[in-house]
Amino acid sequence: MVQNRIGIDVGGTNVKLALVSPDGKIIYSNSIPTHAEMGYEYTINNIKEAIHTLLKETESKTEDIQGIGFGFPGQVDYKSGVVRLAPNIPGWVDIPIAKMIEDEFHIPTRVDNDVRCAALGELNFGAGKGCENLICITVGTGIGSGLIINGKLVRGASNAAGEIGHIKLQMHDGPICGCGDTGCMEAFASGPAIVAMAENYILGGKSTKFRELANPDITPYIVYEAAKAGDPVAKRIFTIIGEYIGIGLSSVINLLNPEKVIIGGGVSASGDYLLNPIRETVKQRAMKIAGEAVEIVPAQLGNTAGVIGASMLIES
Ligand SMILES: [Zn+2]
Repeated sequence: MVQNRIGIDVGGTNVKLALVSPDGKIIYSNSIPTHAEMGYEYTINNIKEAIHTLLKETESKTEDIQGIGFGFPGQVDYKSGVVRLAPNIPGWVDIPIAKMIEDEFHIPTRVDNDVRCAALGELNFGAGKGCENLICITVGTGIGSGLIINGKLVRGASNAAGEIGHIKLQMHDGPICGCGDTGCMEAFASGPAIVAMAENYILGGKSTKFRELANPDITPYIVYEAAKAGDPVAKRIFTIIGEYIGIGLSSVINLLNPEKVIIGGGVSASGDYLLNPIRETVKQRAMKIAGEAVEIVPAQLGNTAGVIGASMLIES
């Protein structure tokens, strides 16, 4: 008989849940508020309740479910099923979430980092279908990645592999990064870097479309809207951001020789304004053989990559 799986994508604001078929289709989905300020037990109780609701509404028995997978925005110990640390969800330190869920439902449960889940989703059902070697990058408030090598997700010696955002682009000084170091790619090229650059152009008196569009704050999306409306300053910002990402990526492409780089995350909504300068920079800066083998493409699953990928954890 066909066994479906449950994928759960935990974020700072919402927890998304889905019942996913073996061919990656979402059969049922729901979303509940995280309410991190109420403590992790409160959130986990709400998640348990939402799983009971999912089972009831889809008329599924626990034995019909092959597994439950959690994607978490932070450091996760996949082997023991423990959330080590989630910077955007205060209070989640050393939480054995897999055991807590297994004790309630008696369904095998796994947990991994959310960007790795997105990479698994794209590999199996999205832009990475058929690939053996790929890098899935998310560009948003931070920059993260999931690495697939020889068809397998790479976790590393202490579950910390894939921190592409902290590749150093500058030896001394440089902008301060959230990790505490300076000169990281994330400090040059994430969503907040786009906003800071836009604000600098405004302060510098440049005539820009995003000054009109700001409501009242500048967001990466407003800079994208301005670029679409033909604003040269907004286009220039994406070109610079794309160059930074392209330079960092060139090192990773030289190192790993992937077939595809998949770009997702909030900032990737800017499409070719961001992707073209990345492609151009990789063409110029990566070594010839690796650079020519790689295709740089947008993510396909959008914000469903997290739940679909999390549902795949049970098999990987
Ligand atoms: Zn850093």
